[in-house]
Amino acid sequence: MPWLAGYPREKIDWFPEIDYSQCVKCGMCMNCGRKVYNWTDAGPLVKHPYDCVPGCTTCAVLCMKDAISFPDRDYIRKIYKKNKVWLKVREALKKEGKLTIKKGGNNGN
Ligand code: SF4
Ligand code: SF4
Repeated sequence: MPWLAGYPREKIDWFPEIDYSQCVKCGMCMNCGRKVYNWTDAGPLVKHPYDCVPGCTTCAVLCMKDAISFPDRDYIRKIYKKNKVWLKVREALKKEGKLTIKKGGNNGN
C-alpha cells in the first residue's frame, strides 16, 4: 500500500467504529471502495478493519448521523513520525518516478 511504503498495516489500529445507537442504516458507508463493511440486519458491520486506508475518514464524514468514529489523527501521525513512514513513502514515490524533489527540499521527517 503506497500510503505505508512497507510498514505493516496490522500495526496501525486505524479503522471505523460504529455507534449503533446513532446509526439509521442509511447505507452510505457501504460505498467504501475498500469493502471494509458488510451489510447485516443490524446495519453495517466492520468486517475487514485492516483494509481501511490509514488516515481515511470518508465514511465518517459522509455518515448522515455521525455514527462512525476514528482514532485521533495524532495517533497515526505519531506512528508515521516514529517509524519514518513519511520518508519511506517519499523514497518509494521517487523510485516510481512520481516525485522529483530538488536539493534543499523538505526531508519529510
Ligand atoms: S453511514 Fe452512518 S448512519 Fe448510515 S449506515 Fe453507515 S453508520 Fe449507519
Ligand atoms: S475510512 Fe475510508 S477506507 Fe476506511 S472504511 Fe471508511 S471509506 Fe473505507
